[in-house]
Amino acid sequence: MTSATDDKTIVRNYFNAQGFDRWSRIYGDGQVNKVQRDIRDGHQQTVDHVLYWFKQDGNAEGLTVCDAGCGVGSLSIPLAAMGARVSASDISEKMVEEASIRAKDVLQPEAVPTFEAKDLETLDGSYHTVVCLDVLIHYPQDKAGDMLAHLSALAQERLIVSFAPKNPFYTVLKRIGEFFPGPSKATRAYLHSEAEIRAALKANGWEIKRQEFTATQFYFSRLLEAVKASD
Ligand code: SAM
Repeated sequence: MTSATDDKTIVRNYFNAQGFDRWSRIYGDGQVNKVQRDIRDGHQQTVDHVLYWFKQDGNAEGLTVCDAGCGVGSLSIPLAAMGARVSASDISEKMVEEASIRAKDVLQPEAVPTFEAKDLETLDGSYHTVVCLDVLIHYPQDKAGDMLAHLSALAQERLIVSFAPKNPFYTVLKRIGEFFPGPSKATRAYLHSEAEIRAALKANGWEIKRQEFTATQFYFSRLLEAVKASD
């Protein structure tokens, strides 16, 4: 078994068990502790940036969107509410089930995304936009490169990804987190070299159109919107 397979098995098991409990709470609106509240707010900013880009472009209606690693639907659901035709998937059955319940609660039946429990590297199809938020953090750099290549092949016009960028400050913060692991912080987190992520996107024929960076006390994420490079 390769280490990437190990990573995937660990991640799937985590998000079907204690990771599900932790993250479905963080990505919800119930009571959480201060750290989780901070992460919830930071993550919401990332989601809001993506939704804002769709609004700025004014073309969400009818657009095909693949939300790879959709979690509990934090992005898929509001995007579907804007009229996008969303295909949402996640490696964790529990996360996808929860996303489907949340979607059916708030959306008109015809707007509900299709949900599927699937590793993003086994997805197929062709979509105007592919989005992958806060998923690469679970994988090392070489695996992230493979994933970006696969997602690139699914995207006709645009690929939107977020990741935790590597820099000295965040490397120290992450080490501190590893010294004092909370009971439900059971997965490894990988920081990524921004230069390498950008190079991987370029190698797959993309150029960066818009970008954002979100940093709260415990959450940090670089968001890149890549569009087809002009010749
Ligand atoms: N993208 C969602 C969001 O921003 O709300 C969820 C982010 S959560 C930190 C990471 C999610 O990625 C989890 O739901 C996890 O199950 C999923 N995931 C991890 N590895 C994956 C893979 N190889 N394929 C699909 N989903 C994956």
